[in-house]
Amino acid sequence: MIFHVLTIFPEFFEGPFAHGVVKRAADSGIVSIRIHNLRDWTHDRHRTVDDRPFGGGEGMVLKPEPVFEAVEAIWPERGEGRKALLLSAQGRRFDQAMANRLAKERELLLLCGRYEGVDERVAAHLADDEISIGNYVLSGGELAAAVVVDSVARLIPGVLGNETSAAFDSFQESGHGEGLLDCPHWTRPAEFRGWKAPEVLLNGNHEEIRKFRREAAREKTAKLRPDLLG
Ligand code: SAM
Repeated sequence: MIFHVLTIFPEFFEGPFAHGVVKRAADSGIVSIRIHNLRDWTHDRHRTVDDRPFGGGEGMVLKPEPVFEAVEAIWPERGEGRKALLLSAQGRRFDQAMANRLAKERELLLLCGRYEGVDERVAAHLADDEISIGNYVLSGGELAAAVVVDSVARLIPGVLGNETSAAFDSFQESGHGEGLLDCPHWTRPAEFRGWKAPEVLLNGNHEEIRKFRREAAREKTAKLRPDLLG
């Protein structure tokens, strides 16, 4: 899978992709992450990417020309398996089901907004979808793009060492089932400050452990995210 990110702050991504699962996936060639500087598609001395909003008001808006030119240069042809996604507080809500769908694409191109946002013609005529990582406003699309890359990359076959571990993650329909939260986890020591790990997890009976985990996942979901129980 190839992830493209279009941003005015390419250096932002030196951090998020330099560790752990995503870095290993990139190093092994299972994913490729290509960061593109939006200013490379400007044609003036100041490399201008923004302008004032029509109608007046505060702030600046990212201009359409460099964004269109960048996407058309990165992908001279669009078509099957390629999705351009505009990160936007106004977008469709990103969730695990969307991450699963996106993990089946060949290439994703994530368009990061800044300032007051991006000229609306990008959402209307260039992006395949507009996606939000939650009901709050970030200062830019870069953090949101990093979230999307991380959560999609871990679902690509071969990225996680143990093929089943993504299946048991919270919100997955597989694993403990029905999109619940993951079960709680404990590790050594078996007793810490008087708090014991559940006995059943220590007894080696896989059927009992499986049942306990399923029930514990259900209880935790009921307590913290009853909305997921439908
Ligand atoms: N004026 C916009 C609004 O109220 O919807 C907010 C613009 S925000 C300051 C600048 C950029 O951050 C957006 O263009 C978008 O790319 C990104 N952004 C902000 N919140 C986001 C969210 N919840 N999910 C994804 N991207 C977000």
